[in-house]
Amino acid sequence: MHTHTLKEFDPIVLGSIKKEQQRQEEGLEMIPSENFVSPAVLEALGSVLTNKYSEGYAGKRYYGGCEFIDEVETLAIERAKLLFGAEHVNVQPLSGAPANVAVYFALLQPGDTVLGMDLSHGGHLTHGHPVTYMAKIFNFIRYKTDKDGKIDLDNLRNMALEHKPKIILVGYSAYSREIEYEKIKAIADEVGAITMADIAHIAGLIAGGQMNNPVPLFDVVTTTTHKTLRGPRGGMIMCKEKYASAIDKAVFPGLQGGPHENNIAAKAIAFKEALLPEFKEYTAQIKKNAKVLEKKFNEFGYKLCFGGTDNHLLLIDVTMKGIGGKQAQIALDKAGITVNKNMIPDDTRSPFDPSGIRLGTPALTTRGMKEAEMETIATWINEVIMNHDNEAKLAEIKTQVKELTKKFPLYPTLV
Ligand SMILES: *Cc1c(COP(=O)(O)O)cnc(C)c1O
Repeated sequence: MHTHTLKEFDPIVLGSIKKEQQRQEEGLEMIPSENFVSPAVLEALGSVLTNKYSEGYAGKRYYGGCEFIDEVETLAIERAKLLFGAEHVNVQPLSGAPANVAVYFALLQPGDTVLGMDLSHGGHLTHGHPVTYMAKIFNFIRYKTDKDGKIDLDNLRNMALEHKPKIILVGYSAYSREIEYEKIKAIADEVGAITMADIAHIAGLIAGGQMNNPVPLFDVVTTTTHKTLRGPRGGMIMCKEKYASAIDKAVFPGLQGGPHENNIAAKAIAFKEALLPEFKEYTAQIKKNAKVLEKKFNEFGYKLCFGGTDNHLLLIDVTMKGIGGKQAQIALDKAGITVNKNMIPDDTRSPFDPSGIRLGTPALTTRGMKEAEMETIATWINEVIMNHDNEAKLAEIKTQVKELTKKFPLYPTLV
């Protein structure tokens, strides 16, 4: 029997894990799609459930020995239903991208049309970006945001009337405003389209009651579980009973093989956490923290895309400071602040060096940081951008960043 521990057997991998843990402890994680899971979620991920094959669904598996796996998966589903008010839930998608692919496969024929948001206006790669295989199979067309940063509903309706899409898709990865699901549903009803929301980024804010919930209204809702929802890396599909069988078949056997039950157990734990009153407070604080950043970046003279934020993230045009998104990201990295470069609406620069940076507050808020820390951090970010070629200044800010993070420890007992 192989009984070796990581420490005994593979100091090289352990070393990399330790360095990554230290990087997470000592840096300011502001990528809005990232978060820190609880030790309970990590325990489930590292559990023996990873050993089990369980193709199929609870009570209808292709393998024996699934009685405890069925308990775990059923619990995850029941908790997700409670959290979002869903009629039907599939917790098997391995991540957000395969969740979306499964929905397309469940509801579309090759060549069918999907109306989604323009990618430079906040849409996601998996919403039919030309580099994806989905774009070869289905016909993706695009609506945009208007000059005030709102979803341009007139444009959306005109596109829907012209192209008669099978699916109207909302939900974004760089859009910072609330979504008016009722108005989009009304347009979908007018043209007979299925409504789909991809809430990957904002699922936690919805679960915490801080943003509108499309689940009771929309036909299908996909999400990741690892962003604001603060669970393990994974995906989930919620839908009306009417689409349940098509969705389940598309996930398995249509797209995937055996589900990752260690991960599904970790999802169940994260959902239990999200059902607690503390999670409401956490998600309210995410938004308060983002509002502080909004105020500070306005004061510093940056242009905030979409006019500001209603959620956890900001998309900031940095070009008026004489710098591009790539340079800003690199300079911020040197100062221990992690963000990502990002296209802004109708960006004239390239995706490899776009005009903006995207940053958010979910991970910092998990550490316990509040308004006062956000003021400080916004000031540092501005200083980094204004002094991006001054290595000494960047190193000085990195020291200050490290001092701050010491007051908000992450995983004191691990590794
Ligand atoms: C992150 C994200 C995804 C993809 O999730 P992965 O887990 O990275 O595959 C899909 N849609 C949206 C809107 C996202 O933000």
